[in-house]
Amino acid sequence: MAGPKTLDQFDIKGRSALVTGAASGIGLAYAECMAEAGARVTLTDIDAEGAEREAKRLVDEGYEARWDVCDVSQLDQVAAAFDNHVAAYGGCDIAFANAGLDVGGGFWTPEGDRNPEGQIDVYDPQRWYKSIGINLTGVFHTVREAARVMKAHERNDHRRGGSIVITSSNAAEVNEAIVGVPYMAAKAGVKHFMRHAAYELAAYGIRVNAIAPGPFVTNIGDGWVKKNPAAKKAWDELVPVGRMAETHQIKPLALLLASDAGSYMTGAHVMIDGGMQLGPIKPI
Ligand code: NAD
Repeated sequence: MAGPKTLDQFDIKGRSALVTGAASGIGLAYAECMAEAGARVTLTDIDAEGAEREAKRLVDEGYEARWDVCDVSQLDQVAAAFDNHVAAYGGCDIAFANAGLDVGGGFWTPEGDRNPEGQIDVYDPQRWYKSIGINLTGVFHTVREAARVMKAHERNDHRRGGSIVITSSNAAEVNEAIVGVPYMAAKAGVKHFMRHAAYELAAYGIRVNAIAPGPFVTNIGDGWVKKNPAAKKAWDELVPVGRMAETHQIKPLALLLASDAGSYMTGAHVMIDGGMQLGPIKPI
């Protein structure tokens, strides 16, 4: 048989990973996944307490983890987080540009009512600026700094390249009116920015891919899905597979893209959405 065995290609022992928005939800699942698979991981978040709490929990469980405070909308904070990671771990093999949020103002409320604040002609521009600043510009900042550090591998040590994984959304592809117009615009921007970054960085051995989740149970949108069982049930019934996803379900895909198992994948926008892109089971 030629080439490495299948499971060996998922091995990331000895590598290091930085995750943005790692204190909660999907980012926390990425951080756990990296640690469980043997990598050293930095959990960064605007929520310093949350990042510290989760990194300490991972360390208590026997993994190698550290934390840093980092608002992805601020380039200097993102650059510092990568510099601190490199100082601690000697490079950065894997970066997850994950931090994001829903600023509210969706066309529909979670309960399915028309939202008076969510219509374009009255939409609060401050919400737009905030969403774009974190969901789109924050991804640019993170990919920029990851590329800077990963390109330096070539000059400074034996490693070459790396893997960058961006959290996009099914809202990049379909009109998900519950999240509001800047979120959809940001995620569609993320998708195309990812494609260019993948094209440009391929020559340096740096792969760039995006994971596009459908509805996952997290704290996004002030955790409405956890606080409101009726709204959660209504959403479960919209998804073709019959339920919203739990965050552990994203880990195998994260490891595929982060590891050598995904060595021929770059520029991919991978949906993990229980079939939502095929259309909701009932009209929203
Ligand atoms: P979450 O609220 O559970 O976690 C998001 C984390 O990002 C939080 O810890 C938060 O403190 C952090 N964060 C927010 N603003 C930040 C900033 N400016 N800088 C750094 N960190 C910041 O939500 P989640 O659902 O896990 O969201 C993670 C990513 O997944 C986001 O990019 C989101 O758009 C995307 N996503 C989520 C879903 C879903 O259904 N939950 C679907 C598609 C895409």
